[in-house]
Amino acid sequence: MLCDFHIHTDFSGDSDTPPARQIERAIALGMGRICVTDHHDYDVNSDCDFNLDFPAYLQTMRELREQYRNQIRLEIGVELGLQGHIAGYLNELVNTCDLDFIIGSCHFIDGQDPYLPSFYEGRTEKEALERFFQVSLEMVRTLDCFDSCGHLDYMVRYCPSKGREYCAADYMDYISPLLKTLIEKGRALECNTGGFRYGLGQPNPCEDILRRYRALGGELLTVGSDAHTPDYLGYEFDRTAELLKECGFRYYTVYHGRRPEFLPL
Ligand SMILES: [Zn+2]
Ligand SMILES: [Zn+2]
Repeated sequence: MLCDFHIHTDFSGDSDTPPARQIERAIALGMGRICVTDHHDYDVNSDCDFNLDFPAYLQTMRELREQYRNQIRLEIGVELGLQGHIAGYLNELVNTCDLDFIIGSCHFIDGQDPYLPSFYEGRTEKEALERFFQVSLEMVRTLDCFDSCGHLDYMVRYCPSKGREYCAADYMDYISPLLKTLIEKGRALECNTGGFRYGLGQPNPCEDILRRYRALGGELLTVGSDAHTPDYLGYEFDRTAELLKECGFRYYTVYHGRRPEFLPL
């Protein structure tokens, strides 16, 4: 099975799963390598605390890496919340933390969480999505603190129509330059299988965007389940491998020491 490079544990404010349970699930699934990527969303207005305790996290994960070293290779990553006003903070942070892999995700748009209904008040779903892609493009253009662009288009999971009215082609004016920027900067696009979990019938981003990325010459592609519990680790990975091959990919990407390595799909 593909290596899962987007996994949460109880170091994330929204997960109760001890890291060892995620690691043991990955071993049971036959994965040779995984990366834990707990949340760090700095300076956000949320009921949940998404600040990662880096010293405790790094120490625990390094110990677990040793403990399980004969069974699985554990990479240590983080999922960073991208926001323009904290660019300086994020750059400094990634230079001081010794991490294998960094996912950059847009969890807050203009200080608001697209997960909440209040994000859609006073605008149409299309306007909300347009703003989301516009900000995502801005973040990818201006920030250099991440390796892979996390779950692009994931907010369709939460918008009023729950993805039924979503068509990626309507937003290509933002999506195409975003994909081109990733390619130019040597950054990866993430294929996040959480979309299947939310009943979208597609990963995030959707097939149209994955195809566009490949057509533009995109090669760096990471795969992650975004599992907060063991039952979703590696979720729909076999189906995803087939989909990615249909989209023209032959390899996917894993990271060590923030350097990409290619594995066959
Ligand atoms: Zn995320
Ligand atoms: Zn995540």
